[in-house]
Amino acid sequence: MAAEVVVVGSCMTDLVSLTTRLPRSGETILGHKFFIGFGGKGANQCVQSARLGAKTSLICKVGKDSFGNDYVENLKKNGISTAFVGQTADAATGTASIIVNSEGQNVIVIVPGANLLFNFEDLKRASDVICKAKVVVCQLEITPAVSLEALKMARANGVKTLFNPAPALADLDPQFYTHSDIFCCNETEAEILTGIPVGNLEDAGKVGRMLLERGCKLIIVTLGAEGCMMISVEEPIPKHVPAGKVRAVDTTGAGDSFVGALAFYLAYYPKLSMEDMIRNSNYVASVSVQAAGTQSSYPYRKDLPQNLF
Ligand code: ATP
Repeated sequence: MAAEVVVVGSCMTDLVSLTTRLPRSGETILGHKFFIGFGGKGANQCVQSARLGAKTSLICKVGKDSFGNDYVENLKKNGISTAFVGQTADAATGTASIIVNSEGQNVIVIVPGANLLFNFEDLKRASDVICKAKVVVCQLEITPAVSLEALKMARANGVKTLFNPAPALADLDPQFYTHSDIFCCNETEAEILTGIPVGNLEDAGKVGRMLLERGCKLIIVTLGAEGCMMISVEEPIPKHVPAGKVRAVDTTGAGDSFVGALAFYLAYYPKLSMEDMIRNSNYVASVSVQAAGTQSSYPYRKDLPQNLF
């Protein structure tokens, strides 16, 4: 059966060590806890969409190694189609090695590995799934030119495109703006793209106007606990869509929860107003910040208020 939400993006295995302090150069220290988590922006967004009930397919590449095998299992457990999850022997599955001290400060090394071997041929092989989707979602943790091609392929076939420019590139190819139906970034990404620091709603509005001028149809800037700012060609006045007040325990991956939820609403509730879609996605992401971890904190449809569906 065709997937309604198709994500072209990354998978990363998070290798997390908890320590009392961060090691100095050349030093070996003892940690008190280690765990492995599933991450990568592409996979995170796809998992959140699937947990809300979307038929999803993730188009990506992992290594032919134990992390890659475990990742494929994880996707299957989340009900995601893995028909276009490639496995390569030429690089390891993407990893993020993370050390977190007792103050919550961290050092992180990301090795994209197999993610950067996902290429134009892999994309072409998945073109049927992309062209039959309702929504295609892309980010920048794979080769940007391949992400852009995925957006173009979707657009040429009347598929809605949702682009999350993360991690941000100061010299982003301008075609990303014109090939995104919805361009969704956080405050940091907005600043890297425009040079304007985003500290409040007014700044977010300024950034939104600037990105509209670059050819986007609709911009969403996520603002953490403040929710989002939206602005569009049709309604070029910035609008604040607040998030509910919650007790946040871990905001890691909140942005991906938001994007995944938005993809779900775009595919399954196309008649909802954009403001309502954003309000609902804020709700989903605000649930994710109330539990620890990334994918482990993402809510399932059955655990959410039924008025969201
Ligand atoms: P991350 O990089 O940690 O994945 P992000 O910086 O990309 O996150 P944010 O803007 O921090 O993304 O958050 C995304 C969305 O998550 C917000 O728009 C909001 O809906 C929700 N959110 C984040 N933090 C909070 C919070 N403290 N309380 C309520 N909702 C939150």
